[in-house]
Amino acid sequence: MSVKRDPRYDVLFDTVSIGPVTAPNRFYQVPHCNGMGRMFPDSMISMRGMKAEGGWGIVTTEQCDFHPTGDVQPFTETSMWDDGDLPYLTAMVDAVHEHGALAGIELVHNGQDSGCLYSREVPIGPEHRPVTWHQHPIQARAMSRDDIRNYRRWHRKAALRARRAGFDIVVVYAGHDGTVPSHFLSRQSNQRSDEYGGSLENRLRLYRELIEETKEAVGDAMGVVARFAVDEMMGADGLEWASEGKEAIEMLAELPDMWDVNVSDWENDSMTSRFAQEGYQEEYISFVKSVTSKPVAAVGRYTSPDTMVSAIRRGVVDMIGAARPSIADPFLPAKIKAGRPEDIRECIGCNVCAAWNNLSAPSRCTQNPTMGEEWRRGWHPETISPKESDSTVLIIGAGPAGLEAALGLGKRGYDVILAEARIEAGGRVSRESRLPGLNEWARVRDYRLGQIERLSNVRIYLESEMDAGQVQEFGADAVALATGALWRNDGVGRSIRFPVPGCEALTPDDIMDGKRPHQPGSAVTVYDDDHYYMASVIAEQLASEGYRVTLATPGMCVASWTEYTLEQRHIEKRLLNMGVEILTRHELSAVEAGGLRLANTLTGDTREREGSVVSVTARLPRDELFDALKGKISVWRIGDCFGPSIIAAAVYEGHRYAREFDAEIDPDGVPFNRTRYSLQH
Ligand code: ADP
Ligand code: SF4
Repeated sequence: MSVKRDPRYDVLFDTVSIGPVTAPNRFYQVPHCNGMGRMFPDSMISMRGMKAEGGWGIVTTEQCDFHPTGDVQPFTETSMWDDGDLPYLTAMVDAVHEHGALAGIELVHNGQDSGCLYSREVPIGPEHRPVTWHQHPIQARAMSRDDIRNYRRWHRKAALRARRAGFDIVVVYAGHDGTVPSHFLSRQSNQRSDEYGGSLENRLRLYRELIEETKEAVGDAMGVVARFAVDEMMGADGLEWASEGKEAIEMLAELPDMWDVNVSDWENDSMTSRFAQEGYQEEYISFVKSVTSKPVAAVGRYTSPDTMVSAIRRGVVDMIGAARPSIADPFLPAKIKAGRPEDIRECIGCNVCAAWNNLSAPSRCTQNPTMGEEWRRGWHPETISPKESDSTVLIIGAGPAGLEAALGLGKRGYDVILAEARIEAGGRVSRESRLPGLNEWARVRDYRLGQIERLSNVRIYLESEMDAGQVQEFGADAVALATGALWRNDGVGRSIRFPVPGCEALTPDDIMDGKRPHQPGSAVTVYDDDHYYMASVIAEQLASEGYRVTLATPGMCVASWTEYTLEQRHIEKRLLNMGVEILTRHELSAVEAGGLRLANTLTGDTREREGSVVSVTARLPRDELFDALKGKISVWRIGDCFGPSIIAAAVYEGHRYAREFDAEIDPDGVPFNRTRYSLQH
């Protein structure tokens, strides 16, 4: 069935000239980290190729560091230190070219952000100062004029090398407070007194030189893109778009072939949906087109074609930049082109992708379970093999795991019955999306329900709680339990191994069910031994209802794991602004009538707080059905009812169940391909 594209989206498929090269459309997959890079190159190559197949007009590398003094171990980005690094980058270029897209490379030297843990070189920067990552006891040394000349030569050579690798576009990068030219530009990092410090013109000198030299070296064949942060989001202490940010762009306006503009640092650029909405960077970058005639690209977690068209029509951008939307749906452009925008798997802005990268593991995605599995498991985001039997599958539980399993099996052609106890599908996603700031998470449910609606072989029954007898009576050929997990209420978690005396706390499940501790205005302690987002959103919810909230945690800071999702500072700031008391390094030691005791995890000193407790510590699988059915029928568990984890894991397990259904899996084998390295001796 061919569907005609709405003509108002045609503008998205205009070609765009970028110096000597032409992008086939306005979809630009900006450089983005992915935890694969040089360490898992086969995975990285297929993932980039998939984006080109899905219609992105430009597909770039993540940052590619080009000299051992910019070594960012343990982060697994791409690197190109010499010609020995060319083969895997060339393979990526070929994978992108195969589908008619332009291949871009982002040349980066992280300067004072580089620990040089692997290379053992001395890091470099505008001035002597400790390196910024992880408080390593290592300092970057101030670059002399000779160092600056060397650095410029390395950059020029890297551009020439990139051309030899076949890249069409080179991105010269001054952003995220993470590269040498951005460090030179920043007043916070550059107090030099020579021609590279002081005035804006001086602080911008190095960046200008890099762009000029790159143009001179490769500009006849490659498009030279300036990726530039126009605002450091620190008010008058840093670059502000309305003053120095704007002046900087004016000074270099016609120099690059395209501007790719954003805000700094990465935590501000890649804000989660809890803190920023689609298009949130427009207020900072919308001036850029008024000061340059060159094409302008920007990100803003654009997933709606209407918003994209609007940004172009309003003269904000020429190219739609995207990292996360291209991870959640590598086929986003192709779907718009084919007149199927309702099929877009929209990013939910959770930053799980960033977290895995920050943990130096291949990025995964909550919405797209095939991310990082394109080569490893041969999973394609849009296709799945047809069924191998006429089995009927009963799935119990329509949370993310059950919905994804039903969708995958349904697309394969199996008859699927999905039974859900509640009045609505979505499981934890529906419930959690009603907590403060998490409304976009409902997209996990909505995308799957929208797709399932079109499959006549998948039937969903709501308000259908199943017991073991009913399951057996149903007589399906296979049964998958996706019944989820429940938060425990006894304080047991990472820190506390035995139930806390007297603790029968409220849990996040209770709060989501509408239960509340006493009256608004009363005191409540949210005890967090989970360390991800849940305790902080519960605290936010209760504080907004007028409770006097303390957030106590054995952790070193609030929601410590959200460092990886780039949210920790935003979360702590929001709670402090709401008047939430924060008590770190404390664990729950007793709950008594009218109050609780907390003990310092190091000294054992105790503190008392009045009021009630909401405990956010650990979850237990809902596996009663499994216990009742095992040995009687063939039954699998998927998602949280097998192993409680993050939503991305539930989606992934549901997807995997659908892919592997009817397949023979060697339980002793490694279930995916691995890149093999050859020894040098
Ligand atoms: P997951 O993240 O693994 O998908 P969720 O907790 O989000 O898990 O979803 C589990 C879903 O299973 C919930 O919507 C819950 O109502 C449903 N459920 C649990 N037990 C039963 C049951 N016996 N019959 C039908 N649905 C059930
Ligand atoms: Fe978007 Fe979350 Fe997927 Fe990242 S992990 S692309 S933020 S849905």
